[in-house]
Amino acid sequence: MVSIHWKTACRNRRRRESDSRRLHERWGKEKSIMDYPIRNCKTCEKDFKPSSRHLDCPVCVGKRTAKYTSCSCGNRMQVGSVRCRVCASSHYSGPVNGNWRGGRSRHTKGYVMVRNSDHPRTSVGSPYVFEHILVMEEQIERFLLPKENIHHKNGIKDDNRIENLELWSSAQPAGQRVDDKIAWAKEYLEQHGFHVTNY
Ligand SMILES: [Zn+2]
Ligand SMILES: [Zn+2]
Repeated sequence: MVSIHWKTACRNRRRRESDSRRLHERWGKEKSIMDYPIRNCKTCEKDFKPSSRHLDCPVCVGKRTAKYTSCSCGNRMQVGSVRCRVCASSHYSGPVNGNWRGGRSRHTKGYVMVRNSDHPRTSVGSPYVFEHILVMEEQIERFLLPKENIHHKNGIKDDNRIENLELWSSAQPAGQRVDDKIAWAKEYLEQHGFHVTNY
């Protein structure tokens, strides 16, 4: 422990006080950036609660300062990581994960979801498809068209027996001109496996 003579201590204290007074006079009238409880990020323009003097939100600061290297698959990954996001999602998902439920999951609205990463409706981040869609697609031997959806006849959302499912379509012609409607109807029938002939 270093002991300071009391005279020195008093002098140091006076200096500190006059320093802060001078600073206060200089800055006191302007509001400090730390006085605002919410700041708007300079980069992504989202509001955030600041914990430092950064003008960017923590996410943007992290993006700017992160260092990247290459994963063994060729994707970009953060320095210090073992694998990139894409490799991590396949490494930690599926039967190796303790939370694996056999590739079935329940949608918040009560529908059954099935894991099927090869299906055109899935992506790396969301590998699940509605089971009722898969059941119907197997029945009609093709993928659903964008305007088609499946109706549960008895209203029970997880009753995915084929006899409970109905293929609905909200597709409709753009205009009301008769020629356009007929052309559209022909195309529609052909989409659904009918052969249309003119006579
Ligand atoms: Zn930001
Ligand atoms: Zn990778």
